[in-house]
Amino acid sequence: MSAAPANPVVLGSWFARDLAELAVTWQAEPPPDPKLLILNAPLAADLGLDPDWLRSPDGVGLLTGTVLLDGAAPVAQGYAGHQFGGFVPRLGDGRALLLGELTDTAGRVRDLHLKGSGRTPFARGGDGLAAVGPMLREYLISEAMHALGVPTTRALAVVATGRPVHRDTALPGAVLARVAASHLRVGSFQYAATGGDPALLRRLADHAIARHAPAAAEADNPYLALFEATVDVQAALIAQWMLVGFIHGVMNTDNMTISGETIDYGPCAFMDGYHPGTVFSSIDVGGRYAYGNQPGVAMWNLARFAETLLPLFAEDTEEAIGIATAALEGFRTRYEAAWTAGMRAKLGLPAEAGDEETGPLIEDLLTQLSQSQVDFTSFFRALADAARGDREPARGLFLDLAAFDAWLVRWLALNPDAVAMDRVNPIYIPRNHLVEQALAAATDGDLEPFERLLAAVTDPYVERAGLERYAEPAPDSFGPYQTFCGT
Ligand code: AMP
Ligand code: MG
Repeated sequence: MSAAPANPVVLGSWFARDLAELAVTWQAEPPPDPKLLILNAPLAADLGLDPDWLRSPDGVGLLTGTVLLDGAAPVAQGYAGHQFGGFVPRLGDGRALLLGELTDTAGRVRDLHLKGSGRTPFARGGDGLAAVGPMLREYLISEAMHALGVPTTRALAVVATGRPVHRDTALPGAVLARVAASHLRVGSFQYAATGGDPALLRRLADHAIARHAPAAAEADNPYLALFEATVDVQAALIAQWMLVGFIHGVMNTDNMTISGETIDYGPCAFMDGYHPGTVFSSIDVGGRYAYGNQPGVAMWNLARFAETLLPLFAEDTEEAIGIATAALEGFRTRYEAAWTAGMRAKLGLPAEAGDEETGPLIEDLLTQLSQSQVDFTSFFRALADAARGDREPARGLFLDLAAFDAWLVRWLALNPDAVAMDRVNPIYIPRNHLVEQALAAATDGDLEPFERLLAAVTDPYVERAGLERYAEPAPDSFGPYQTFCGT
């Protein structure tokens, strides 16, 4: 390990110092032949990191964990988690490292984190590695989510390691450098709670308050205020997922952040044809994490979070349960409000239109979208055309034309605002067939399709000539789509 010269940024070790019981000091496995595949230069600049320096050998060393910034003390974080409903008391970063925290140019504290940096004490049977395809997948989809205004971890860079990774076949290996408000998860609290040390749990909660809910420190019951803050941000987050048709695919409690950022882009995908039962993940055979189940699962996960906090809510357990239950109920209201506001915006509805009218209108629309399995993303852009006088693009998406025509009449009577609709309804999302094409090419060494797709989806609302194929649903030949966790 050498120190990084010529870069003024200093990394903190706030988590590692505050929560040593949840952190194992660890080092990255040096990659044999590192090559920078992609760098997020605007994000680097926001972090106060010089993009040109990051492209240098020392910079690539930082991005793979072999060159440490001043103050850096990399750790693998421990956490527990309910995976598909079953509790696993010891998970943790099996192939990831928290390099430390830095303060970005806006004054916000960010975690700098590596994924695919080698085995750690939490690796269990895993090899600690990651392949180029899945790391570029996280880069692409998390940056698309950011461009859609959805809170998310960000991707700073992907570096090919030059080390093969053995999955079904040998694949080129890679390390992803990502940035997050923190990597505190519901599973972090479950891990601390399982240890039976109330002081550790309190320290973790205090750390979370300092980072994500500073106002909670002033509340009568700071830990309840922390829980309520997480309920709020998660309700808002899941509503945003639903409004863009995002399916996370593996909403285990270790993949739910306290900050309210989307984390862990494994088997996630965007829904094409609208249906609440949509599932892409090959291992989600029961549809636990289907599109329409996401709000309910989030609430279930938050109930697990509340369970860990009960001793901090009140000394008397019955009283603590009462407090937790009431706070958890807030999720429904917050989610409904965020989703309804978002759906009204997608439909360009004016503020004067009352919920008594728009509620049933939205319900009826979803029924029709589901019956005809209408492409969720194209629909709202086609609908804006209908508001401008051209109904045919939208009509062409439905099987029951009479029902849709009747719906259109009701909707048009409300004077929807087509320009406002185009500002909130993306035209370009990471469509599954394009993602797969781009990743297959990148795995074979051709990054151009990936870069073009990235450029399309990171500017998702403005229609551009030449990008027509990025706006189109998959051809029928693409067939049923499956995504995978084992990345
Ligand atoms: P994930 O599905 O990415 O949330 O991972 C679940 C758990 O498995 C986490 O503890 C990961 O660190 C661990 N894990 C996933 N893939 C690997 C791997 N290739 N090597 C070691 N640990 C892994
Ligand atoms: Mg995870």
